[in-house]
Amino acid sequence: MEALDKSVVVGVIGAGAMGAGIAQVAAQAGHTVSLYDNREGGAAAAIATIAKQMAKLVERKKFTDEEVQQIVSRLNVVERLEDFANAGLVVEAIVENIDVKKAIFSTLESVCDKRCILASNTSSISITRLAAGMQHPGRMVGMHFFNPAPIMKLVEVISGLATEDGVAKCVYNTALNWGKKPVYAASTPGFIVNRVARPFYAESFRLRQEQVADCATLDALLRDAGGFRMGAFELTDLIGHDVNYAVTCSVFDAYYGDFRFQPSLIQKELVDAGYLGRKTSQGFYSYR
Ligand code: NAD
Repeated sequence: MEALDKSVVVGVIGAGAMGAGIAQVAAQAGHTVSLYDNREGGAAAAIATIAKQMAKLVERKKFTDEEVQQIVSRLNVVERLEDFANAGLVVEAIVENIDVKKAIFSTLESVCDKRCILASNTSSISITRLAAGMQHPGRMVGMHFFNPAPIMKLVEVISGLATEDGVAKCVYNTALNWGKKPVYAASTPGFIVNRVARPFYAESFRLRQEQVADCATLDALLRDAGGFRMGAFELTDLIGHDVNYAVTCSVFDAYYGDFRFQPSLIQKELVDAGYLGRKTSQGFYSYR
Protein backbone atom coordinates (compact mmCIF):
# COMPACT_ATOMS: atom_id res chain seq x y z
CA MET A 1 0.00 0.00 0.00
CA GLU A 2 1.19 3.47 -0.92
CA ALA A 3 2.33 6.04 1.61
CA LEU A 4 -0.27 8.48 2.88
CA ASP A 5 -0.74 11.50 0.66
CA LYS A 6 0.23 14.87 2.13
CA SER A 7 -3.40 15.89 2.00
CA VAL A 8 -4.26 13.32 4.70
CA VAL A 9 -4.85 14.83 8.14
CA VAL A 10 -2.66 13.24 10.83
CA GLY A 11 -3.92 13.10 14.40
CA VAL A 12 -1.52 12.89 17.34
CA ILE A 13 -2.70 12.07 20.85
CA GLY A 14 -0.42 13.11 23.71
CA ALA A 15 1.65 16.29 23.40
CA GLY A 16 4.53 15.23 25.61
CA ALA A 17 8.10 14.54 24.53
CA MET A 18 7.12 12.05 21.82
CA GLY A 19 3.74 13.36 20.65
CA ALA A 20 5.12 16.87 20.11
CA GLY A 21 8.04 15.47 18.14
CA ILE A 22 5.82 13.23 15.99
CA ALA A 23 3.44 16.14 15.30
CA GLN A 24 6.42 18.23 14.16
CA VAL A 25 7.68 15.45 11.87
CA ALA A 26 4.25 15.05 10.23
CA ALA A 27 3.82 18.82 9.80
CA GLN A 28 7.32 19.10 8.31
CA ALA A 29 6.28 16.41 5.81
CA GLY A 30 3.35 18.62 4.72
CA HIS A 31 0.42 17.13 6.67
CA THR A 32 -2.15 19.11 8.56
CA VAL A 33 -1.86 17.83 12.14
CA SER A 34 -4.44 17.71 14.93
CA LEU A 35 -2.78 17.54 18.35
CA TYR A 36 -4.67 16.54 21.50
CA ASP A 37 -3.61 16.24 25.13
CA ASN A 38 -5.88 15.80 28.15
CA ARG A 39 -3.66 18.15 30.17
CA GLU A 40 -5.20 21.61 29.91
CA GLY A 41 -3.11 23.80 27.63
CA GLY A 42 -0.76 20.84 26.95
CA ALA A 43 -1.16 20.77 23.16
CA ALA A 44 -0.91 24.57 22.81
CA ALA A 45 2.23 24.65 24.96
CA ALA A 46 3.78 21.90 22.83
CA ILE A 47 3.12 23.85 19.62
CA ALA A 48 4.63 26.99 21.18
CA THR A 49 7.74 24.99 22.11
CA ILE A 50 8.00 23.54 18.59
CA ALA A 51 7.79 27.08 17.16
CA LYS A 52 10.53 28.25 19.54
CA GLN A 53 12.80 25.32 18.73
CA MET A 54 12.24 25.73 14.99
CA ALA A 55 13.13 29.43 15.21
CA LYS A 56 16.58 28.29 16.34
CA LEU A 57 16.79 26.11 13.22
CA VAL A 58 16.13 29.23 11.11
CA GLU A 59 19.12 30.88 12.80
CA ARG A 60 21.17 27.81 11.88
CA LYS A 61 19.86 28.08 8.29
CA LYS A 62 18.21 24.62 8.34
CA PHE A 63 14.84 26.18 7.44
CA THR A 64 13.70 29.55 6.16
CA ASP A 65 11.44 31.72 8.29
CA GLU A 66 8.61 31.16 5.82
CA GLU A 67 9.00 27.36 5.93
CA VAL A 68 8.80 27.39 9.72
CA GLN A 69 5.71 29.60 9.67
CA GLN A 70 4.04 27.17 7.26
CA ILE A 71 5.01 24.12 9.33
CA VAL A 72 3.74 25.68 12.55
CA SER A 73 0.53 26.83 10.85
CA ARG A 74 -0.21 23.18 9.99
CA LEU A 75 -0.25 22.26 13.71
CA ASN A 76 -3.69 22.58 15.29
CA VAL A 77 -4.85 22.07 18.85
CA VAL A 78 -7.95 19.91 19.19
CA GLU A 79 -9.93 19.69 22.41
CA ARG A 80 -11.80 16.41 22.01
CA LEU A 81 -11.18 12.98 20.51
CA GLU A 82 -14.29 13.58 18.36
CA ASP A 83 -12.19 16.16 16.47
CA PHE A 84 -10.20 13.29 14.91
CA ALA A 85 -13.14 12.38 12.64
CA ASN A 86 -11.34 13.73 9.55
CA ALA A 87 -7.96 12.04 10.24
CA GLY A 88 -6.48 9.34 7.99
CA LEU A 89 -3.83 8.32 10.52
CA VAL A 90 -3.89 8.80 14.29
CA VAL A 91 -0.70 8.20 16.28
CA GLU A 92 -1.19 7.74 20.02
CA ALA A 93 1.71 8.82 22.28
CA ILE A 94 0.24 8.91 25.79
CA VAL A 95 1.22 7.23 29.05
CA GLU A 96 2.66 3.68 28.74
CA ASN A 97 -0.41 1.96 30.21
CA ILE A 98 -2.41 -0.59 28.27
CA ASP A 99 -5.79 0.18 29.84
CA VAL A 100 -5.51 3.92 29.17
CA LYS A 101 -4.34 3.30 25.62
CA LYS A 102 -7.14 0.78 24.93
CA ALA A 103 -9.74 3.26 26.17
CA ILE A 104 -8.42 5.87 23.71
CA PHE A 105 -8.51 3.44 20.77
CA SER A 106 -12.00 2.31 21.67
CA THR A 107 -13.22 5.93 21.49
CA LEU A 108 -11.28 6.52 18.27
CA GLU A 109 -12.99 3.55 16.63
CA SER A 110 -16.36 5.16 17.25
CA VAL A 111 -15.15 8.51 15.89
CA CYS A 112 -12.83 7.82 12.94
CA ASP A 113 -13.62 6.48 9.51
CA LYS A 114 -13.03 2.71 9.35
CA ARG A 115 -10.18 3.26 6.85
CA CYS A 116 -8.32 5.52 9.29
CA ILE A 117 -5.09 3.84 10.45
CA LEU A 118 -4.72 3.71 14.23
CA ALA A 119 -1.10 3.63 15.38
CA SER A 120 0.52 3.45 18.79
CA ASN A 121 3.94 4.85 19.65
CA THR A 122 4.14 2.38 22.53
CA SER A 123 7.66 1.29 23.49
CA SER A 124 6.71 -2.15 24.72
CA ILE A 125 2.98 -2.93 24.81
CA SER A 126 1.72 -5.73 22.56
CA ILE A 127 0.00 -4.43 19.43
CA THR A 128 -1.93 -7.72 19.38
CA ARG A 129 -3.34 -6.92 22.85
CA LEU A 130 -4.09 -3.30 21.93
CA ALA A 131 -6.05 -4.50 18.89
CA ALA A 132 -7.95 -7.25 20.72
CA GLY A 133 -11.65 -6.46 20.97
CA MET A 134 -11.55 -3.72 18.37
CA GLN A 135 -14.16 -3.72 15.62
CA HIS A 136 -11.45 -3.34 12.95
CA PRO A 137 -8.26 -4.75 14.51
CA GLY A 138 -6.53 -4.95 11.11
CA ARG A 139 -5.89 -1.20 11.13
CA MET A 140 -4.05 -1.18 14.44
CA VAL A 141 -0.26 -0.96 14.06
CA GLY A 142 2.79 0.14 16.03
CA MET A 143 4.57 3.26 14.76
CA HIS A 144 7.43 3.56 17.20
CA PHE A 145 9.55 6.69 16.94
CA PHE A 146 12.66 7.41 19.00
CA ASN A 147 13.48 10.40 21.13
CA PRO A 148 13.84 13.14 19.89
CA ALA A 149 11.48 12.20 17.05
CA PRO A 150 12.46 15.04 14.67
CA ILE A 151 16.10 13.96 14.83
CA MET A 152 16.15 10.19 15.28
CA LYS A 153 15.73 8.36 11.97
CA LEU A 154 14.58 4.95 13.16
CA VAL A 155 10.88 4.03 13.23
CA GLU A 156 9.81 0.49 14.17
CA VAL A 157 6.65 -0.53 12.28
CA ILE A 158 5.07 -3.22 14.41
CA SER A 159 2.46 -5.72 13.32
CA GLY A 160 0.25 -7.55 15.78
CA LEU A 161 -1.42 -10.82 14.82
CA ALA A 162 -4.38 -9.02 13.26
CA THR A 163 -2.55 -6.11 11.58
CA GLU A 164 -3.24 -6.04 7.85
CA ASP A 165 -0.11 -6.18 5.68
CA GLY A 166 -1.36 -3.20 3.68
CA VAL A 167 -1.64 -1.10 6.85
CA ALA A 168 1.94 -1.91 7.96
CA LYS A 169 3.21 -1.20 4.43
CA CYS A 170 1.39 2.13 4.30
CA VAL A 171 2.90 3.18 7.64
CA TYR A 172 6.35 1.97 6.52
CA ASN A 173 6.15 3.94 3.26
CA THR A 174 4.77 6.99 5.05
CA ALA A 175 7.69 6.91 7.50
CA LEU A 176 10.05 6.73 4.50
CA ASN A 177 8.35 9.80 3.00
CA TRP A 178 8.79 11.56 6.34
CA GLY A 179 12.56 11.11 6.00
CA LYS A 180 12.77 8.20 8.44
CA LYS A 181 14.42 4.78 8.29
CA PRO A 182 11.62 2.35 9.12
CA VAL A 183 12.05 -1.33 9.99
CA TYR A 184 9.37 -3.97 10.32
CA ALA A 185 9.12 -5.75 13.66
CA ALA A 186 6.79 -8.38 15.09
CA SER A 187 4.81 -7.56 18.21
CA THR A 188 7.08 -9.05 20.87
CA PRO A 189 7.64 -7.30 24.24
CA GLY A 190 9.95 -4.29 23.72
CA PHE A 191 10.06 -5.04 19.97
CA ILE A 192 13.70 -4.72 18.84
CA VAL A 193 15.37 -1.66 20.34
CA ASN A 194 13.68 -1.64 23.73
CA ARG A 195 14.41 -5.32 24.15
CA VAL A 196 18.14 -5.05 23.55
CA ALA A 197 18.25 -1.83 25.55
CA ARG A 198 16.80 -3.36 28.75
CA PRO A 199 19.95 -5.28 29.81
CA PHE A 200 22.05 -2.20 28.85
CA TYR A 201 20.13 -0.07 31.36
CA ALA A 202 19.82 -2.81 33.97
CA GLU A 203 23.53 -3.63 34.08
CA SER A 204 24.45 0.06 34.19
CA PHE A 205 22.03 0.62 37.07
CA ARG A 206 23.46 -2.40 38.90
CA LEU A 207 26.98 -0.96 38.57
CA ARG A 208 25.73 2.27 40.12
CA GLN A 209 23.79 0.46 42.85
CA GLU A 210 26.95 -1.45 43.79
CA GLN A 211 28.81 1.90 43.82
CA VAL A 212 31.36 0.69 41.30
CA ALA A 213 31.62 4.22 39.88
CA ASP A 214 29.54 7.39 39.70
CA CYS A 215 27.04 8.12 36.88
CA ALA A 216 29.30 10.57 35.04
CA THR A 217 32.19 8.09 34.98
CA LEU A 218 29.98 5.26 33.76
CA ASP A 219 28.35 7.44 31.09
CA ALA A 220 31.73 8.68 29.87
CA LEU A 221 33.02 5.10 29.66
CA LEU A 222 29.98 3.88 27.73
CA ARG A 223 30.41 6.80 25.31
CA ASP A 224 34.16 6.91 24.90
CA ALA A 225 35.13 3.27 25.28
CA GLY A 226 31.85 1.53 24.52
CA GLY A 227 31.05 3.62 21.45
CA PHE A 228 27.47 4.38 22.57
CA ARG A 229 26.10 7.79 21.67
CA MET A 230 24.87 8.32 25.23
CA GLY A 231 25.46 6.48 28.49
CA ALA A 232 22.56 4.80 30.31
CA PHE A 233 22.18 7.54 32.94
CA GLU A 234 22.06 10.56 30.64
CA LEU A 235 19.87 8.63 28.18
CA THR A 236 17.27 7.57 30.74
CA ASP A 237 17.25 11.14 32.12
CA LEU A 238 16.32 12.21 28.57
CA ILE A 239 13.72 9.48 28.06
CA GLY A 240 12.05 10.13 31.44
CA HIS A 241 12.27 7.66 34.33
CA ASP A 242 8.49 7.26 34.56
CA VAL A 243 8.41 6.17 30.91
CA ASN A 244 11.55 4.02 31.06
CA TYR A 245 10.52 2.30 34.30
CA ALA A 246 7.03 1.56 32.95
CA VAL A 247 8.57 0.06 29.80
CA THR A 248 10.89 -2.18 31.86
CA CYS A 249 8.00 -3.38 34.05
CA SER A 250 5.95 -4.10 30.93
CA VAL A 251 8.75 -6.13 29.25
CA PHE A 252 9.58 -7.95 32.54
CA ASP A 253 5.93 -8.97 33.03
CA ALA A 254 5.50 -9.98 29.41
CA TYR A 255 8.53 -12.32 29.66
CA TYR A 256 7.10 -13.95 32.80
CA GLY A 257 9.61 -12.33 35.15
CA ASP A 258 12.79 -13.17 33.19
CA PHE A 259 15.69 -11.83 35.33
CA ARG A 260 17.36 -10.19 32.30
CA PHE A 261 14.53 -7.64 32.20
CA GLN A 262 14.16 -7.05 35.96
CA PRO A 263 13.33 -3.41 36.83
CA SER A 264 15.88 -1.49 38.88
CA LEU A 265 15.36 -0.32 42.46
CA ILE A 266 17.37 2.86 41.96
CA GLN A 267 15.19 3.80 39.03
CA LYS A 268 12.04 3.10 41.05
CA GLU A 269 13.40 5.41 43.78
CA LEU A 270 13.73 8.19 41.20
CA VAL A 271 10.16 7.63 40.00
CA ASP A 272 8.82 7.59 43.58
CA ALA A 273 10.62 10.86 44.31
CA GLY A 274 9.29 12.49 41.13
CA TYR A 275 12.86 12.80 39.84
CA LEU A 276 11.87 11.95 36.27
CA GLY A 277 14.93 13.33 34.49
CA ARG A 278 15.25 16.38 32.26
CA LYS A 279 11.51 17.01 32.27
CA THR A 280 11.52 17.66 36.03
CA SER A 281 15.08 19.12 36.06
CA GLN A 282 16.26 16.27 38.28
CA GLY A 283 17.08 12.65 37.55
CA PHE A 284 20.43 10.92 37.96
CA TYR A 285 21.79 14.41 37.19
CA SER A 286 20.52 17.86 38.16
CA TYR A 287 19.48 20.24 35.33
CA ARG A 288 18.74 23.26 37.51
P1 NAD B 1 5.26 12.17 28.24
O1 NAD B 1 4.99 11.92 29.67
O2 NAD B 1 6.33 13.15 27.86
O3 NAD B 1 3.91 12.64 27.48
C1 NAD B 1 2.70 11.95 27.56
C2 NAD B 1 1.60 12.96 27.30
O4 NAD B 1 0.36 12.24 27.20
C3 NAD B 1 1.43 13.98 28.42
O5 NAD B 1 1.45 15.28 27.87
C4 NAD B 1 0.08 13.62 29.04
O6 NAD B 1 -0.61 14.76 29.51
C5 NAD B 1 -0.64 12.99 27.88
N1 NAD B 1 -1.70 12.06 28.27
C6 NAD B 1 -1.65 11.10 29.24
N2 NAD B 1 -2.81 10.42 29.26
C7 NAD B 1 -3.59 10.95 28.28
C8 NAD B 1 -4.91 10.68 27.81
N3 NAD B 1 -5.67 9.72 28.36
N4 NAD B 1 -5.39 11.41 26.78
C9 NAD B 1 -4.64 12.39 26.22
N5 NAD B 1 -3.39 12.71 26.63
C10 NAD B 1 -2.88 11.99 27.65
O7 NAD B 1 5.56 10.73 27.61
P2 NAD B 1 6.40 10.40 26.29
O8 NAD B 1 7.82 10.25 26.67
O9 NAD B 1 6.01 11.34 25.21
O10 NAD B 1 5.85 8.91 25.98
C11 NAD B 1 4.61 8.70 25.36
C12 NAD B 1 4.57 7.33 24.73
O11 NAD B 1 5.68 7.19 23.81
C13 NAD B 1 4.70 6.16 25.72
O12 NAD B 1 3.93 5.09 25.26
C14 NAD B 1 6.19 5.83 25.66
O13 NAD B 1 6.47 4.50 26.02
C15 NAD B 1 6.47 6.07 24.19
N6 NAD B 1 7.87 6.38 23.84
C16 NAD B 1 8.63 7.18 24.67
C17 NAD B 1 9.94 7.47 24.30
C18 NAD B 1 10.81 8.35 25.16
O14 NAD B 1 12.04 8.36 24.98
N7 NAD B 1 10.26 9.13 26.09
C19 NAD B 1 10.48 6.96 23.12
C20 NAD B 1 9.65 6.18 22.28
C21 NAD B 1 8.36 5.88 22.67
